[in-house]
Amino acid sequence: MAVTEQTPLARLVRRGQAEQLARTKGLHTVGDLLDYAPRRYLQPGQLTDLSELRAGQEVMVVAEVVRAASRPMRGRRGNLLTAVLSDGLGHELDLTFFGSHGHENKLRPGVRGFFAGTVGAYHGRLQLAHPDYELFAGDDNAARLVEHYRTHQIPVYSATGKIYSFTIRRMVELALDSVEPVRDPVPAQVREARGLMSRAQALELVHRPRVGDQPRRGLARLKYDEALTLQVVLAQRRHQAESVPAVPRVPPPGGLLAAFDARLPFELTDGQREVGKVLAEELAGDRPMNRLLQGEVGSGKTVVALRAMLAVIDAGGQAALLAPTEVLAAQHVRSIRAMLGDLAEGGLLGGSEIGTSVALLTGSQTAAARKRALLDAASGAAGIVVGTHALIQQHVQFADLALVVVDEQHRFGVEQRDALRDKATRPPHVLVMTATPIPRTVAMTVFGDMETSTLRELPRGRPPVATYVVDAERPGWVERTWQRVAEEVAQGHQAYVVCPRIGDLDPDLAAGRDSTDEDVSDWGPVPDEEGPTRELTGVHAMYDQLRANPALSGARIAVLHGRLDAETKDATMRAFTAGELDVLVATTVIEVGVDVPNATVMVVVDADRFGVSQLHQLRGRIGRGSAPGLCLLMATAPGPAAAERLAAVAGTSDGFELARLDLAFRREGDVLGARQSGSTGSVRHLRLGRPEDEQIISDAREDAFAIVGADPTLAGHPDLAAAVAARLDDEQAAFLERG
Ligand code: ADP
Ligand code: MG
Repeated sequence: MAVTEQTPLARLVRRGQAEQLARTKGLHTVGDLLDYAPRRYLQPGQLTDLSELRAGQEVMVVAEVVRAASRPMRGRRGNLLTAVLSDGLGHELDLTFFGSHGHENKLRPGVRGFFAGTVGAYHGRLQLAHPDYELFAGDDNAARLVEHYRTHQIPVYSATGKIYSFTIRRMVELALDSVEPVRDPVPAQVREARGLMSRAQALELVHRPRVGDQPRRGLARLKYDEALTLQVVLAQRRHQAESVPAVPRVPPPGGLLAAFDARLPFELTDGQREVGKVLAEELAGDRPMNRLLQGEVGSGKTVVALRAMLAVIDAGGQAALLAPTEVLAAQHVRSIRAMLGDLAEGGLLGGSEIGTSVALLTGSQTAAARKRALLDAASGAAGIVVGTHALIQQHVQFADLALVVVDEQHRFGVEQRDALRDKATRPPHVLVMTATPIPRTVAMTVFGDMETSTLRELPRGRPPVATYVVDAERPGWVERTWQRVAEEVAQGHQAYVVCPRIGDLDPDLAAGRDSTDEDVSDWGPVPDEEGPTRELTGVHAMYDQLRANPALSGARIAVLHGRLDAETKDATMRAFTAGELDVLVATTVIEVGVDVPNATVMVVVDADRFGVSQLHQLRGRIGRGSAPGLCLLMATAPGPAAAERLAAVAGTSDGFELARLDLAFRREGDVLGARQSGSTGSVRHLRLGRPEDEQIISDAREDAFAIVGADPTLAGHPDLAAAVAARLDDEQAAFLERG
């Protein structure tokens, strides 16, 4: 049977190898393997002389095996195979294999070939441990191979366990040579219009390049393929979402919204007003709104969302507000109730005539509270239902869900958004909010099925936050830090002290499993490969330390983290909001959304363990009132990368600039954290952190929306449809794995 891109790899290569590739690289089909781009290329003729080897060098040599011996390893199972290479001129190099895996049958004295790896030193001799190699079979073959290496760039694939780069290369070549003419997902007209080479040619250039920038040109085409399939998925999703009309929500005059606006204690910013207008128009239409609202921390997104919620309530519907943490959900309920005043006492004696009520639904509330909230949601008594993931669960029902608001979107995936959407009989309007500014490449892919609005300005009169890095190894500085906290407290202000972990109250925590879902952030902590691992400061230890600090004697201090039960968390947050606590020692549970204007100072302990955007988010908790804010980033001997991150955060308060830096700092995999990747799975070729891919994505986006607009089911583009289906399969699999 013919080999196609859909053919399982097990039909092309040995079963064991196919299993390895599936497990370690996620490669299942011939197409997957063809799409597996080399990590880098060795330039033609770049063979190393055995006489020039240095430890640490990555080399490729042509040599002959002169001796080989296998012996049992001491204290370990299996054999140690040592082979010695010679160049015939007296220079030697050792090869070692632990647990020899059949190499002893191939590496017999007299065989010649290519050997590649990183030179190490052992007992004064240079060696390659587990090198990659390709043996010559006879002189003709040797001549051909040498000629090949002299004239071609050699792709180097990242090796996996027992499968080496050379082996992967041979498999890829086998795949290239045996696959039926490669199908091209890009329609011919598009290829012509964009001047794109064929996919088959691109694969040749990527895997068997000869000269110059062939790999780069081939890869650009593969990137386009990836971008196009991705954008078609988004375009179809959008098409689907718009196929069933929404109920237009037109608020009659004289309702909740008008009453709320009348009692608003501040002027809306221009941005808030503009976005408000866009939302009102979309809510009034029958095309389901699907909008992302990005806004700098503290730009006042909540008011914008609340006004949209009130509009739909006035029009007879309900709104759901999904928050990533219990702390934030509870705070939203508190602040919405406070802002609404008697407008939130619908149905209560003394409540407003037009009023509604606000319900809270979380996973850990009492059964009675939960039951009441469920009833209020189902009966429609609650115009606004605020909740955490608990909102998404199956038995939660609404009388008439008109608007879904998702706060701090970066904590949620598309699946959750969809699950909430499904709770309405007609498609609800959806507003997603994030304080993490999203670079255009990411916005176009991860949030590519949504329209976006941005709140750039902060409300007038917002005091600046000054940020400094504190060297934790200088006792004077540390002392001064706590003094500053004490000074703020003495002036009646409040302080946050943020630690990277909860602490070691129970053995589980000591073992490092110290985070609950709420304490884990998508934006860090950034793993630091630089320094030696050191014990990170825990919330409880910090609490004890502050209690013992004479500067803070008399200060009211409490802890807050994700492991506390809901009631304690809520009570602590309430007390802090009410000014009954001076210092809150917390994990990153306070990272998003927490809004206490009287808090003026924040100390981030072990700040080098946090990511750029995360620090910016954290810092957004202060400077929300009228007094200036102070943010102290305490770090112990940060490595160069961490020092750079800290300097960046201290250097600018522009969240968009920091988001750009953050992308540049982090590795690709982290850009699309598991929960963010919902709509797109992972990307193989595109580099969302690099501006140079922006053009490819935006071209592909234009093409994809045009294609889907004209042919939503892709009936006329079977090859593109197949590529899209394969992509969706991968996502399904990834989603199931994540659970
Ligand atoms: P974020 O966009 O980070 O979610 P919030 O919605 O929590 O910001 O708003 C931050 C604070 O600013 C809140 O205390 C809110 O009441 C206040 N606020 C919102 N809009 C304005 C405004 N136009 N003028 C003054 N204060 C405002
Ligand atoms: Mg917020």
